[in-house]
Amino acid sequence: MRRSIRTRLLVTLIGLAVGPLLVVGVLLDWQIFTVQQQQAIALQHEVAARESTLVAAFVQQLENDLRSLVQVRGLKELPLDQQKSLLSELLSYRNAFDRIFLVDATGQEQAGASRTGLFTAADLRSRAQAEEFVGPTTSGRVYYSAVHTDSASGEPLMTIAVPLLNLRSGSADGVLVADVRFKPIQDLFSGVETTDQGVIYMVDSTKRVVAHVDPSVILKGTYFAPPAQDGIYTGLNGTSAVLATNSIHLGEQTFTIVTEKPTAVALALAINTLVIVTGLILIVLVIAVGVGLLGVRQIVRPIQALASTAQAIQQGDLSQKADVSSSDEFGQLARTFNAMTDAILHREKELRQQAEELRVATAKAKESARVKGEFLANMSHELRTPLNAIIGFSDMLLMGMVGELTEQQKHKVERLRENGHRLLALINNVLDLTRIEARRIEIAQKPFSPAALAKRLIAQMEVLAQKNALDVKTGIDPELPASLVGDEQRIEQVVVNLLSNAFKFTDQGSVALEITANRAEHTWSLSVSDTGIGIPPHALDLIFEEFRQVDGSSSRAYKGSGLGLAITRNLVRVMDGQISVKSELGKGSTFTVTLPMLEEAPGNTVLQLEAMGA
Ligand code: ADP
Repeated sequence: MRRSIRTRLLVTLIGLAVGPLLVVGVLLDWQIFTVQQQQAIALQHEVAARESTLVAAFVQQLENDLRSLVQVRGLKELPLDQQKSLLSELLSYRNAFDRIFLVDATGQEQAGASRTGLFTAADLRSRAQAEEFVGPTTSGRVYYSAVHTDSASGEPLMTIAVPLLNLRSGSADGVLVADVRFKPIQDLFSGVETTDQGVIYMVDSTKRVVAHVDPSVILKGTYFAPPAQDGIYTGLNGTSAVLATNSIHLGEQTFTIVTEKPTAVALALAINTLVIVTGLILIVLVIAVGVGLLGVRQIVRPIQALASTAQAIQQGDLSQKADVSSSDEFGQLARTFNAMTDAILHREKELRQQAEELRVATAKAKESARVKGEFLANMSHELRTPLNAIIGFSDMLLMGMVGELTEQQKHKVERLRENGHRLLALINNVLDLTRIEARRIEIAQKPFSPAALAKRLIAQMEVLAQKNALDVKTGIDPELPASLVGDEQRIEQVVVNLLSNAFKFTDQGSVALEITANRAEHTWSLSVSDTGIGIPPHALDLIFEEFRQVDGSSSRAYKGSGLGLAITRNLVRVMDGQISVKSELGKGSTFTVTLPMLEEAPGNTVLQLEAMGA
């Protein structure tokens, strides 16, 4: 996937700046929340502990009240009226007592007082053998009973029983028994509860709720198991709450004070802080991304401007300018870029001008070459007519048609005729050359027999060899096809040129002709070797140029115009072939002509001839 530089920069920015910010934010939030939660729980626990102390002190006060009554000297011996009035006084003074009564060592009631006034002898009898009498009587210690329910009101009660010790015998001879209500204990909590929406309640060892602000909770007989550890739990009312507990021991009984505060209230501060911190982080995030976007835009805009300019230039509109005016690196880049396009524009203009000049010059050169060629062709043609007349007349003179010539005259006329022939040959050559150069020659594409061609060439060699008594060697490749397509006459002209040079520049030894086929490369070659004077390396290329000979002296010693090889090379090229030379001074030379091997495909002749442009 190809991603734009903008996306990549943004991703990097977010990765580098926003990522860590988010991580720090989340960690900070979590930290703050945890600390505040711990604080809220600790606070609740403090309340539970404080209330426990209050409750313990309150109950201790009740016990002390009972103890001081017991210490009234001779309470047991007082008349019943006085006993009753003492008990009633305490009852009215302490509303925590539901009823108080005095029994002797056998469990017989002596006197009793009840808040409701419904205290009866039957009541007493039913509890005569109860623990609260027996315990203190036998052990002599203050006794705290488990919570029991008042049959009349349904209220939970706890009994405190204080022994009346006989100082002489050391054992108890009576017990002061008091039923204690939990309502006044509940009232101790109310001051705390009303201030902050929490509830405080008390649970006995059987998990029964014995003190609660809501009386119906108590009367229904609600049970609640306080958690072993302070924390956030489902509270008594069924919703999430922060719960903290503290146990107190009243006599042999254990109670638990539970403080319960709705989580939302207890953690309000934590949640508020959380919201504020998260909000702050979000604001910083938005600012960071905004600033980042602006920065990215500032980086990307000049790049995009440059890119679109470069694209326009690539599509050929060199007049486009990169529009970045800042003084930073981008501005510098744009200025360099613009300078570069200016330079290209300038260069392009120059090149166009040069091309135009070149075109004009070429046209002129072509025209003058054409005129030159035409002139040469015409001239040669015009020269041939009088030359033929001169040669014709010298023939007639030599044949004695004008009369017998003296030996001296004959000799001079022969020189005349000989030079006439040489001039004619030269003119023919020049004519050939101009024709080839002007592409005015036609190359035939006809089937011919290479064997027949070879035969004619060998015959010519034998004639030439007689003049200076040289050996003739020939090698004809049997692989040569029986028939090839091409211009037989032109090929012959090329080889005869090479052969006549070979004989011309060889005094002794041999001249060889070799024709080979190279089917793999679809070529065939004709090479002419001699054991003559050879060609110096520096002249190997020159000899193919018009009017070039190895040197002046050789031109004098060996007749010639320097046109033969130029014509040969041009002819070979026109036939899509190649010519090469290898030579060693004083040892001999080998000229090789390589031509395409065009075979006459049976039934395909016409097609092939057409393809050759015949
Ligand atoms: P020319 O009419 O002078 O032979 P060519 O173009 O045929 O013109 O040859 C150019 C020159 O190349 C010759 O004058 C000669 O110096 C050299 N040359 C050509 N063929 C041979 C050869 N077989 N051996 C030595 N020199 C050669």
